[in-house]
Amino acid sequence: MTAPTITGLDCGWMRTQSRTLSSDGGRDEIAIPVPAWLVRHPAGDVVFDAGLHPDLATSTESLGAIAKAFTIVLGPNGTVGPRLAEQGVDPTGPLTVVLSHGHFDHAGGLVDLPNARVIANADEWRAAVDGDGYGVTMPDLGHDVLRIDGVHDVFGDGTLTCLPTPGHTCGHQSLRVLTADGPVILAGDACYFARTLDDEVLPPFAHDHVRQLESLAMLQRERATGTVIVPGHDAEMFNSMTSTR
Ligand SMILES: [Zn+2]
Repeated sequence: MTAPTITGLDCGWMRTQSRTLSSDGGRDEIAIPVPAWLVRHPAGDVVFDAGLHPDLATSTESLGAIAKAFTIVLGPNGTVGPRLAEQGVDPTGPLTVVLSHGHFDHAGGLVDLPNARVIANADEWRAAVDGDGYGVTMPDLGHDVLRIDGVHDVFGDGTLTCLPTPGHTCGHQSLRVLTADGPVILAGDACYFARTLDDEVLPPFAHDHVRQLESLAMLQRERATGTVIVPGHDAEMFNSMTSTR
């Protein structure tokens, strides 16, 4: 069987003060990528996270107060739908989207993927759609949503596994991919930056700081066994993964 492959899709960038994302940060501005990840599997194409909503290319009004903290850098055709098309994948096709969590920079692009089946943590989906603590409510666009509660084997063959990594939000999850080169965990916002695995400096905000540290510890243990951890917003790591691996 052919092992799944991972390609990083550039779905825009955001600029913000480093203190927005790191509890030891200052007022210096940093640029972070907003990725979606295309995971090609013999049983079907999977997208881990959907990135920004295309409307943010022209107006950040929908972000409300969050717009003060983030400058969105997003061109026309810069969201997940056109990016998938560039890879030869029909964004209106029967994709599977694994959603790490419901924040605007991970769920906004679902609008580009109207026929996708979404796999989300049940608590996460409820909290994000209700808007509880999310700043921007995630609209329910009528997708077929598989609401899971814990570890989930996407195709039943052990190559793609949703792993609970709560803390950043109540039901955050990551995706483990068994590639030909070994296991990779797409960590989403359980780990913003590669350095986070070493310095353990987390964002100033969290749904639950204790659970966030426990999730980070799980990622550290996985790394110690040789698993590659892919952070959610690490520019250097993202740039190294925009071709298929
Ligand atoms: Zn994020």
